[in-house]
Amino acid sequence: MKRALITGVAGQDGSYLSELLLSKGYEVWGIVRRNSVPEHQSSRIGSLGGLHLEYGDLLDSASLERCMRLAAPDEIYNLASQSHVRISFDIPQFTVQANAMGLLNLLEVYRKVAPEARFYQASSSEMFGNSVDPDGFQRETTPLNPVSPYGCSKVFGYNMVRNYRESFDLFAVNGILFNHESPRRGSNFVTNKVVKTAVQIKHKIAKQLVLGNLDSYRDWGHSKDYVRGMHMIVNHDSPGDFVIATGQTHSVRELCEYVFGKLGMDYREYVVQDPKFMRPSELTYLRGDSSLFRETFGWEPEYTFEALLDEMIEHWESVTVGPMAG
Ligand code: GDP
Repeated sequence: MKRALITGVAGQDGSYLSELLLSKGYEVWGIVRRNSVPEHQSSRIGSLGGLHLEYGDLLDSASLERCMRLAAPDEIYNLASQSHVRISFDIPQFTVQANAMGLLNLLEVYRKVAPEARFYQASSSEMFGNSVDPDGFQRETTPLNPVSPYGCSKVFGYNMVRNYRESFDLFAVNGILFNHESPRRGSNFVTNKVVKTAVQIKHKIAKQLVLGNLDSYRDWGHSKDYVRGMHMIVNHDSPGDFVIATGQTHSVRELCEYVFGKLGMDYREYVVQDPKFMRPSELTYLRGDSSLFRETFGWEPEYTFEALLDEMIEHWESVTVGPMAG
């Protein structure tokens, strides 16, 4: 039975990845940060089936070492981060500590305690910033030119993983994932914010949707498709870095148009803009070319842009309408 250690296990990707690995018969060890939100989190620490949750923090090397020894992993997935780009401008130092130094803390514990394991780093399309190849895509060879503290922190992590792979002969890899969403995405990311609020407007719980920039483009896929990709990269015969993306791009405006249209409304009547949701510098266009990844692994996404949003709409319809329907 294989054993995996996942940081960020309570997040969107961590939850889908642990479900995938459990379904493959893995024993999964997840690291959860202790916080004081009254969710009775302490009752979730412990073991259930093949899933074991332990307290730890990327900024606390001793806790990482403890978890690494307990888990004795074959595969390590570093999915924990401060992952919100606009918030990274508000708290740049925490963002860099968690995403850059946190990753380095984990790499050091990996190198010393479990160097035979395979290590996956959640790298990001945000690292490309405003670099685009002449054909309108970003790919593994596109220069990294980050435009946010988040992007800068992820470039550090990406380079450090490559450096450890080369210096210490470790199986450490980067997945360069474009935006990936699902009903489990935080509702301060634009997809879930749009879907949740549009459903609330339809049910007269909200009156308007306040957004920032409507004219940026993103390549949006489904988290479930992308965690399958993480597992493939980690189980390849040699370590390498791969872009995972759908290859399609849509603006925030098109996202609004589709979601409101699907709910029988015109987004122009409800969407207003507020500078507080703008970023000091914006990454305006993302479209990933994942040919290398697709050709190596035969991967195809199961979800289209529309199917992804339909699933999110269905989720928010069931949550929103539920007890309030009467
Ligand atoms: P990101 O690509 O990782 O930053 O993912 P987000 O979902 O946070 O943002 C995607 C795009 O939507 C960015 O270009 C944002 O500027 C844009 N956007 C426009 N309005 C909003 C908003 O109200 N919230 C967020 N999170 N993004 C917004």
